[in-house]
Amino acid sequence: MDFTVTPEQQTFFEETRAWAQSLIAPGAAERDREGRWDPALWKALGAQGLAGLPIPAAYGGGGASVVECCLANEAIAEGGHDGGFNLSLGAHWVIGTVPIWLHGSEELKKRWLPGLCDGTFVGSWASTEPESGSDAGSIRTTAVRDGDDWVLNGTKMFITNGPIADVCTVLARTDTKATAGRGISAFVVDTRTPGFSAGRELDKLGCRSSPTAEIVLQGCRVPAECMLGPEGEALWRIAFECFDWERTVMLAGSVGGMAATLADALRYAGQRSQFGRPIASFQAVQHKLADMKINLETCRMAVYRAAWLKQEGLPHQTEASIAKVLIGELSVRNALEAVQIHGGYGYLRDFPAERALRDSKLSAIGGGTTEIQKTVIARALLAE
Ligand SMILES: Cc1cc2nc3c(=O)[nH]c(=O)nc-3n(C[C@H](O)[C@H](O)[C@H](O)COP(=O)(O)OP(=O)(O)OC[C@H]3O[C@@H](n4cnc5c(N)ncnc54)[C@H](O)[C@@H]3O)c2cc1C
Repeated sequence: MDFTVTPEQQTFFEETRAWAQSLIAPGAAERDREGRWDPALWKALGAQGLAGLPIPAAYGGGGASVVECCLANEAIAEGGHDGGFNLSLGAHWVIGTVPIWLHGSEELKKRWLPGLCDGTFVGSWASTEPESGSDAGSIRTTAVRDGDDWVLNGTKMFITNGPIADVCTVLARTDTKATAGRGISAFVVDTRTPGFSAGRELDKLGCRSSPTAEIVLQGCRVPAECMLGPEGEALWRIAFECFDWERTVMLAGSVGGMAATLADALRYAGQRSQFGRPIASFQAVQHKLADMKINLETCRMAVYRAAWLKQEGLPHQTEASIAKVLIGELSVRNALEAVQIHGGYGYLRDFPAERALRDSKLSAIGGGTTEIQKTVIARALLAE
């Protein structure tokens, strides 16, 4: 298997990383402290041609391959060093925009994709509910047909971009009798629709520059044309497909975060002196740096392997779950090592290691927990 990138892809990676370094990194610590989303960065992302990267050029997107989307996400995370920005971007790309592209009618695509691609709109996806997380088939939000419309009622939880999104793909039960994850449909909802509201903004441990909220649907009336894909099939056909995008393209952001954390630790170990010499000269510190590099490359390889398989149309669910488990564990381990290398300073908010530790924990939870990934992997093994 050949994992080398083309010279054009390498240039794209470096230019994107430099762009993120100059634009996103400078205010990252402050946005984290204040839990603040910066709309100006989103506009700049659109102007840079990155907001609609996975979407074909015909709809205003970048027409990038799965691997190229990974490269961009990794570059933005490494250069920008803002886990929250990458969370918002990842959600916008792979669960906010891609489902409309892959399953929307031509009318829906023309209505939403150009704005989602040029940075005018922010996308989001709402499947999780207060009582339905890992058990995604247990959602209680309902959509009841009324003439030409569907009327949605229910509450969604943990919705990335919830307070700022212009459009949200909402999963709702259209058949309350169906079992085994059937009877669930997806609706593209304009967030200005009466009956759609973002509830309280959630105060998070990490990724704090990305706004997360509850979404409340109260008699939210949506035209029938806003349904994505066939009625009742959204969990199997759309949500599980979204998970594959999350476990490849979105994970590449975590790889970029790990690269930034290693670079910080290396820099600090070279600059900090104790006992009359840089701490990088102590073997104990060198081994931590080596472990961080091993973990980073393990995760990078796992993510790009899954992404490449996805791009080639080959089975990749097990590989994507393996990548997610690895990142869930190793990104936190690397952040802990970075804190340790920084000593007392690593415990302070003045250095990015502490933020990396808080940001990294999400990888083992969002988009399917580590435990659920292991269940997916074991299920595939036992079916062999
Ligand atoms: C910051 C953030 C952003 C998010 N963004 C979105 C979003 O944009 N849209 C959206 O729809 N959702 C979003 N989510 C929701 C996310 O996908 C869920 O939090 C996740 O799937 C876990 O669900 P839960 O939190 O309800 O945990 P639960 O499912 O209640 O799990 C609790 C614990 O039990 C374990 N567990 C549960 N079932 C099993 C089992 N069968 N076997 C073994 N262990 C099990 C879990 O692994 C976990 O450790 C987001 C979450 C966060 C924190």
